[in-house]
Amino acid sequence: MKSFISYSENSDFSIHNIPFGVAIFNQEYIACCTRIGDMVLDLATIYDYGFFDEIEGLEENVFEAYTLNEFIELGKPVTNAVRLKIQELLQEDSKLGQDKKTVEQCFYKFDHVQMMMPVHIPNYTDFYSSIEHATNVGKMFRGEENALLPNWKHLPVGYHGRASSIVVSGTDFYRPKGQMKPPGAESPVFGPCKQLDFELEMGFIVNKHSEMGDSISTSEANDAIFGMVLFNDWSARDIQSWEYVPLGPFLGKNFCSSISPWVVTLEALEPFRIESPIQEPEVLNYLKFEGKQNLDIKLQVYLKPESGEENLICQSNYKFMYWNMTQQLAHHTVNGCNVEVGDIYASGTISGKDKDSFGSMLELSWRGTEPIHLADGSERKFIEDNDTIIMRGHAEKDGIRVGFGEVVGKVLPAK
Ligand code: CA
Repeated sequence: MKSFISYSENSDFSIHNIPFGVAIFNQEYIACCTRIGDMVLDLATIYDYGFFDEIEGLEENVFEAYTLNEFIELGKPVTNAVRLKIQELLQEDSKLGQDKKTVEQCFYKFDHVQMMMPVHIPNYTDFYSSIEHATNVGKMFRGEENALLPNWKHLPVGYHGRASSIVVSGTDFYRPKGQMKPPGAESPVFGPCKQLDFELEMGFIVNKHSEMGDSISTSEANDAIFGMVLFNDWSARDIQSWEYVPLGPFLGKNFCSSISPWVVTLEALEPFRIESPIQEPEVLNYLKFEGKQNLDIKLQVYLKPESGEENLICQSNYKFMYWNMTQQLAHHTVNGCNVEVGDIYASGTISGKDKDSFGSMLELSWRGTEPIHLADGSERKFIEDNDTIIMRGHAEKDGIRVGFGEVVGKVLPAK
């Protein structure tokens, strides 16, 4: 496939991708959009010009909206048909490519648009599905003997996160304040968190409402997942370690999470499916699944000090996940919990076996005992004020590249 829009072979947004997002065009007009190379295509206008007329089930201009929710809710038959139609329209010699006037009206340079939150998120759940991450954290918080708790290999451990503080890439946030108990201290203290961290994660977005009492099985899960984003689950380790027993994460986690603005569909990620790790002991029947349910997505994390350059501090891969998305969704709903359109389910920190693949500062600096060294000569145990964390992710196979772009966030001093 070749497009009439030219782009670099390293672009995450090849004609094989066709992600969905929401943008402000010319600082005044908001619409759902897609991206190819460095060009953003306004889908609301494309709809108005009749390019989607043949698509059944797309009776209204759902792209004339501030979120993707209405579009996503139409379900896979419609959203897939739209994606394939866009792919067709973007090819050389297409009806759109030859219509110079429409091309001029509907395409915007990426630098000239501002990306918004792609979805309204009713609910957010965070899993803990990387065995390397869970083992590392367990070792630091509870010691080698109790690193993995007895339930870990029997169910995808998770907790309900906070949807209100999820922000789109490029949104800065304030260092959280809270209660901490420094090692050796007799009583807790209050103040700005001193162990601010990132968590390298990916999140999937659900495309349906389900009824209370109903469950989504592993074989139904892929149909209920619209697509994925990069997810930085910012964490305050000192607040977390003091508060988390017995009910789990709370203020150490709910102050901010950042997502990438482009939702990459599961269909675009199809070519990158691979076998999952062997699960031993065998899981209960409702967690069994068929087919290749892991995805080979290369992930990187960069730390950029206020006036310094980007430092590559982690290279991981989504394929390391012990529990896959179908198991996460099946487990989440097995008790009859309903899901809603736009819900985000995050993977949990994605760490690999090697030290440079650890997906958090907590692991990279081993809870501050082994600081990492930056190009400007400074070192970091955790994230300092005015540091920016940038996460990037892409999949590549047989000359086809599909990527997520980036999720960027900067930490401002406590308010
Ligand atoms: Ca997390």
